[in-house]
Amino acid sequence: CGIVGYIGKDQAAPILLDGLSKLEYRGYDSAGLAVSDGTKIQISKCKGRLKVLSELTNGGLSIQGTMGIGHTRWATHGAPSDTNSHPHYNSNETIAVVHNGIIENYSKIKKRLEEKGYAFQSQTDTEVVVQLLDYYYKGDALETIAKVMTKLEGSYALGIMFMDRPNEFYAVRKDSPLIVGVSENGNYIASDVPAILKYTRSVYYIENGEIVTLTRDKVSITNSDLEPIEKELKTVEWDI
Ligand code: GLU
Repeated sequence: CGIVGYIGKDQAAPILLDGLSKLEYRGYDSAGLAVSDGTKIQISKCKGRLKVLSELTNGGLSIQGTMGIGHTRWATHGAPSDTNSHPHYNSNETIAVVHNGIIENYSKIKKRLEEKGYAFQSQTDTEVVVQLLDYYYKGDALETIAKVMTKLEGSYALGIMFMDRPNEFYAVRKDSPLIVGVSENGNYIASDVPAILKYTRSVYYIENGEIVTLTRDKVSITNSDLEPIEKELKTVEWDI
């Protein structure tokens, strides 16, 4: 029910945990993080309160890396459980996804992928997103994400990481909220402003169908045809 993401100079996990704690008001039943250290993606997730995840990761200190995505889940498809918690990942753990919303046509996609030999671990609608990314990914992340978006029906805000792209991660939305924060120390995604207000007041409000690429010092946004979009950076004037 809340997503966050960070790439920058600092360790990602503590920032992600802090951001998720600001989204607690949205309600959730499980939480998780995926962090890349440049060579692998480490995932930590569990049913229960953020406190449980925080203890599991020693306040984030046990997961090293300066790029990551985080999630608090409000289960819609699949009971709250460690396995059904986000991030979801492909079988060799090279792609990780967090998702807010509902993939309405997930059972059709799941069946097609199972026929192609994909094994699913969870009962969630979300897992089809990461398996579809795996199916189409041949090295061009943006093209793959745009392709997968044409297959998905329903609502989503997604944070996406590829192990072989350690210097950028991606976010898209359709009918679920998503903002991007920009700062000297790095760049952020979140479901809502309070998650990042401690770190920056400079934000982009992302529209339906837009695809965001975040690096340590740059944010670029395209439409679903991968044409660049110039967006106005807004300043948040209010406090929590
Ligand atoms: N539909 C997804 C699930 O049940 C995402 C729920 C959410 O937005 O937290 O896992």
